[in-house]
Amino acid sequence: MIEGELRKIKEEVLNCKKCSLYKERVGNGFYPVIGEGNHQAKIMFVGEAPGLQEAKTGRPFCGASGKILDDLLESVGIKREEVYIANLLKCRPPENRDPQPEEIKTCSSYLERQIKIIKPKVICLLGRYSMEFLMEKFGIKDQREGISKIHGRLFENKNLFQSIAVIAFYHPAVAIYNPNMKEILVKDFKILERFK
Ligand code: URA
Ligand code: SF4
Repeated sequence: MIEGELRKIKEEVLNCKKCSLYKERVGNGFYPVIGEGNHQAKIMFVGEAPGLQEAKTGRPFCGASGKILDDLLESVGIKREEVYIANLLKCRPPENRDPQPEEIKTCSSYLERQIKIIKPKVICLLGRYSMEFLMEKFGIKDQREGISKIHGRLFENKNLFQSIAVIAFYHPAVAIYNPNMKEILVKDFKILERFK
């Protein structure tokens, strides 16, 4: 059931031409990045969109940000295979530019379906766009503040999608050249220990 539904999403995304980003994908011989990990994961990560390395391989967080994410997971004793990792957009925006509202509107139905199928206990929002989109979806839009205020804070909600909590984190990319940001991320990640 879960496998079949996720496979269906994969097939749809592999052939998707619903927004103009498909041209970037096809024109460069890139892959869409659908998501990967444990289909029964308790913890799900939602990043923004594939970067270059991800688009070349079809795997989420496999470049420099991925290395940071791996370190963060290791710091709390969570294996990458235990979690599920996906992105808000499945195809790479040219030159890693910000996702456009129209692209988010079009592509996010895939992510919503992934969330409904996997039913994690907690969704970790990596970056501003996934934070804004999912906090709105979860009906906690009014609790949104800047990431510098709410990073690491747990929002529990029991209305939509059953009871899935969300936590916004700084995007791991901010820590690539900044050890101070990495320290903050390591501290914030501690909260995930209770979801293991
Ligand atoms: N940044 C993201 O937001 N997602 C990835 O998959 C890689 C980098
Ligand atoms: Fe389809 Fe999403 Fe890729 Fe746009 S970004 S073409 S909606 S899979």
